[in-house]
Amino acid sequence: MKQIEENIIKSFNGVKYDLASIHTKIYEIMNKNEELERTVFILQNRLRTPTIIKTNVKSKKTRYVGTKDSNKYHIEACPYAKNIKKKSKIIFGTKKIAEKKGYGPCKCLK
Ligand SMILES: [Zn+2]
Repeated sequence: MKQIEENIIKSFNGVKYDLASIHTKIYEIMNKNEELERTVFILQNRLRTPTIIKTNVKSKKTRYVGTKDSNKYHIEACPYAKNIKKKSKIIFGTKKIAEKKGYGPCKCLK
């Protein structure tokens, strides 16, 4: 009888020990989860904040656009310039070149 009691106590102690170690593991996992949540939060914030990347790439040189059918030249962003058909489009590297060829500035250049 005593042997049985001892065995029962032993196995209960074993269960207690197992429970304790399970608790510790759960605690560890919860801590790690918290850490991960924090990391995710930081990363999400980073994604939300736009990073301004400064590049050393020189901005495209301004070019001027004219057409065979008129004597005006434009910046490329000018709505009029955008309407010029490829066939009749003339591109000038500088204002000087355009003016040398007899073109005058459009309103978009004033
Ligand atoms: Zn224009």
